[in-house]
Amino acid sequence: MLIVDDKPENIVALEALLQRSDINLVTTTSPNAALKMCWDQDIPIALVDVQMPEMDGFELVEILKSNPRTREILVIFVTAISTESKYAVRGLAAGAVDYLYKPLEPTITTAKVDSFIQLVRNQREIKRKNAELESYQAELIKAKELAEQAKQVKERFLANMSHELRTPINGILGISHLLQNTHLDDEQRKCVDLLKVSSEALLGVINDVLDISKIEAGKFKIVRAETNVSNLAKSVADLMKFRADEKGIGLTVNFVGAVPKMIMADALRLNQILMNLLSNGIKFTDEGSVDLSVKVLNTENGRVQLEFAVTDSGIGISQERIDKIFESFEQATDDTSHKYGGTGLGLSIVKKLVELKGGQLHVTSTEGKGSTFAVVNWFEVVGNQTEDTAPKPGVNELTKFENVSVLVAEDNTINQFMIRKVLANWGLSVDIVENGEKALNILKEKAFDIILMDTHMPVMGGFEATRRIRTDMPEGVKDIPIISLSAAVLEEEKQLAYDAGVNAIVTKPFDLTVLHHNIEILVKKDR
Ligand code: ADP
Repeated sequence: MLIVDDKPENIVALEALLQRSDINLVTTTSPNAALKMCWDQDIPIALVDVQMPEMDGFELVEILKSNPRTREILVIFVTAISTESKYAVRGLAAGAVDYLYKPLEPTITTAKVDSFIQLVRNQREIKRKNAELESYQAELIKAKELAEQAKQVKERFLANMSHELRTPINGILGISHLLQNTHLDDEQRKCVDLLKVSSEALLGVINDVLDISKIEAGKFKIVRAETNVSNLAKSVADLMKFRADEKGIGLTVNFVGAVPKMIMADALRLNQILMNLLSNGIKFTDEGSVDLSVKVLNTENGRVQLEFAVTDSGIGISQERIDKIFESFEQATDDTSHKYGGTGLGLSIVKKLVELKGGQLHVTSTEGKGSTFAVVNWFEVVGNQTEDTAPKPGVNELTKFENVSVLVAEDNTINQFMIRKVLANWGLSVDIVENGEKALNILKEKAFDIILMDTHMPVMGGFEATRRIRTDMPEGVKDIPIISLSAAVLEEEKQLAYDAGVNAIVTKPFDLTVLHHNIEILVKKDR
């Protein structure tokens, strides 16, 4: 605390009054020296005499208030002039916070000074807390940036992992398919069938892990289209029938109420949900039957509330574990995965998918008697009830191509082998190169009707090669149809392929009918 007074005896009197251990007093008889002290030191409170020869108290306060470094100092005037209010007003207008009148009354003086000291302490505490908050805020911003980075790394990792895993599975599935069409004895055929079942199961697990990650990253899109409900329910049951037959249990489909023919639904995901529930029902039932029922619960202007329920007469789930089974990697008993296999991901995906579509998943179960898993949701009913009944051709009934040449850029040798066989079977003439650069080179010498381009290849990848074909190649070559053979599962990666200029994307591991269909369409369009 600074005391400024031209009379040393006044200073001594004030000092005597205010001397205490928690205050550090500095004093001067010169207002100019006082200004310097205020600039140099951290002074929060000043007691200033009003009448001084060199510079009066009002002027001194004006100078203090005009400088940002000294603006905050709390100034208390000490005066003998008069208690008249006009002086008080002038001092307060100049920026002082209070007046003390001489002769100083000790109790009032200490009380006032005490309250200003408390004010200063509070202000300092607020400043300190503010600085602390600012530093927390900076840390939070940094942590948020790190979390966002980590999320991106996870997504990249996911895309890469999916690519790395899908490419070899593509090879395994393709080659098992080729082997199935060769002459095999019974034992070999069994081995090949098992090979196919195992690789399909592996693909299922990879798909589940990717689905979970995509849902968690908020990247899952629900695509609603006209869907024939009863066909969907029946075809899911048909696909599962062989498993029920293998276990000697029944599998039935029931419709309750006026189930509309066509509704707006995400058929792919509804299929996935019902497949999962039916597959669990069959898996955990050894006697009796599994029933899929589609029931109308409610209807209201153009919408219908449907319940898809899968009821089994299997082992059931104990009440304590019934909430757990919807969590990732959780099973109803500790020996479930040992006895029945499985990753514990299925139901967690089903629940997330159902909720994403705006529906609910209910379960009721009695241990030893069986369970019912029911999905309830509202759907829009489609007025125009048409049906697409054209059967899909089997892989072996695919038409042969004539005079069509294909360039394949693919670095994985097993996939090269498999694709060459498949394409040659379809009557195509095939050239294979192992990277994008070699594809560009061969295109300068030889004409092709279509290109199948892998995405990730050493030296030059598929996107870069596609871009160069589209921009650098002469007329007649630059427009050649390109199908991207991609293991990409993320929408962004697919978008990158289209941005590079590909005409279509066939995802690995590819369905041969889909690949055939795409080649057929693009070659026809080009001729
Ligand atoms: P997974 O079957 O691959 O282990 P799910 O997420 O599909 O994973 O199921 C989690 C667990 O819930 C199963 O391991 C099983 O313990 C229990 N469960 C699921 N469906 C049934 C059912 N219909 N009957 C009895 N238990 C079931």
